[in-house]
Amino acid sequence: MENTDERSFLKINFSINPSDELFKRLSFPNSEVKRIAFKEKNGFFYRFNFETSFDYLGKTEKILNTIYLFNGKPIKGDLSEYSVTEGNEKEIKVPDYKNDYFLAKEELKKLVQGKTNEISRMLRGYLDKEKEKIEENFISETKKFRNNLGGIAEKLMEFSKSGDIEKIKEQKKLINSLREEMNFDEIEKDKTRALQLESQKHLLNVENKLIKTTIIYYPVYTFSLEAVKAGIRKSFNLQYDPVSENVSGLLCENCSDEMREVIICNSGHAVCKDCVRLCDSCKKEFCKKCLRNSCEICSKKICKDCSVRCFRCSRVVCKDHTRQDKLSGYFYCKDCSRRCDKCGNLKDPFTFKVSKMNNREICEDCFREETKESIVGGIFE
Ligand SMILES: [Zn+2]
Ligand SMILES: [Zn+2]
Ligand SMILES: [Zn+2]
Ligand SMILES: [Zn+2]
Ligand SMILES: [Zn+2]
Ligand SMILES: [Zn+2]
Repeated sequence: MENTDERSFLKINFSINPSDELFKRLSFPNSEVKRIAFKEKNGFFYRFNFETSFDYLGKTEKILNTIYLFNGKPIKGDLSEYSVTEGNEKEIKVPDYKNDYFLAKEELKKLVQGKTNEISRMLRGYLDKEKEKIEENFISETKKFRNNLGGIAEKLMEFSKSGDIEKIKEQKKLINSLREEMNFDEIEKDKTRALQLESQKHLLNVENKLIKTTIIYYPVYTFSLEAVKAGIRKSFNLQYDPVSENVSGLLCENCSDEMREVIICNSGHAVCKDCVRLCDSCKKEFCKKCLRNSCEICSKKICKDCSVRCFRCSRVVCKDHTRQDKLSGYFYCKDCSRRCDKCGNLKDPFTFKVSKMNNREICEDCFREETKESIVGGIFE
């Protein structure tokens, strides 16, 4: 592939309000955007103009192809919908577009393959006919020779019967000269040469030439914004590309998909709407990662604020199935708390004491009551 250095620059101008465009494509349903700022940088794409020559049967056929490369992919390009002006090389930093050029070349090969196949097929058809002609010619010459030789041999037989020595000599001479004239090796070589020549004549040569590269640049908007939800502040950096009309840089912190609706979980994760759940216990919004716990008694999916580890059995249980002992401050699941026979309440199982009155184990509260009573009782005894 031959290359020329012809380069030109085009600039696409947008008369848009970048923030408006951003919020047409993005929403924050459970938070409020408090701060937003944007900067401009340049986005680029490329137009490559190629000329392809098909040389065959002494003539040249040329076709032109235009290939646009955007974000490393060939696209169906059309600049007519944009406001385009002459660009200026000095106001931009031209990125390395070698790879885009290679990709455009690959795309070009695909585009010209059909025509290449078509011409090759046609040439093969022509060549087959020419080869056939050469073969036929060869066969008919050989046949002619055999016929001549056959005729002489017949005559020779006749003359040898009649014993005409002069005539026999004459015929033998004729045979020799005919043999000399008909050198089979040479004929075979001639045939091969003729076939090679025809093959060469029917070759197709395809040449691609880059005739022009156009570097097209346009503004891309880089935003930084802050969303606030009930005391949680969350910062985002993202980009809006007005050519692809695409917002990028906003990935769900759970599934890594690009987000269009940003939901902020109660622990401060920004997630997509598919990754948000409600805690079965407090009903607050959390992301899937934050709702990894489930109560080992009722199986509810619970957030970390609603998860309590039982001091006795170490199981994680929801608030509905735990009780905090007021005196010790420890949490016990419903299975590990002990019901006090005296007051009927669920209490810390490690604080039960033996009643001096009836030898039954009672909770610490009741034990204290009992002690107080017995002191008071003792006084008035
Ligand atoms: Zn997600
Ligand atoms: Zn919760
Ligand atoms: Zn979360
Ligand atoms: Zn327990
Ligand atoms: Zn539970
Ligand atoms: Zn009690």
